[in-house]
Amino acid sequence: MARTSTASPSRTHVPLGSLTQPGARAGASCRACGSERVTRIAMNLTDGSPVEFTSCHRCEHRTWAEQGSARALPVDRVLDKTRKV
Ligand SMILES: [Zn+2]
Repeated sequence: MARTSTASPSRTHVPLGSLTQPGARAGASCRACGSERVTRIAMNLTDGSPVEFTSCHRCEHRTWAEQGSARALPVDRVLDKTRKV
């Protein structure tokens, strides 16, 4: 693991625009560490399945889940659905 530099805050890279907002919506928390500092994004996969992507700011654990369901979705399944054309 490379050390992250805190030297230049103006150069923080945000891959998908400004999705990393502090203060997550109610109910979102990391399944790994329990932190509520997570980013949750709702989206539809290529096959139309509505899913929620949760990314933890603390431990970088990432979770996919079916929308409206507490069930986590294995990454394999997500990639499979995304690949489906
Ligand atoms: Zn976490």
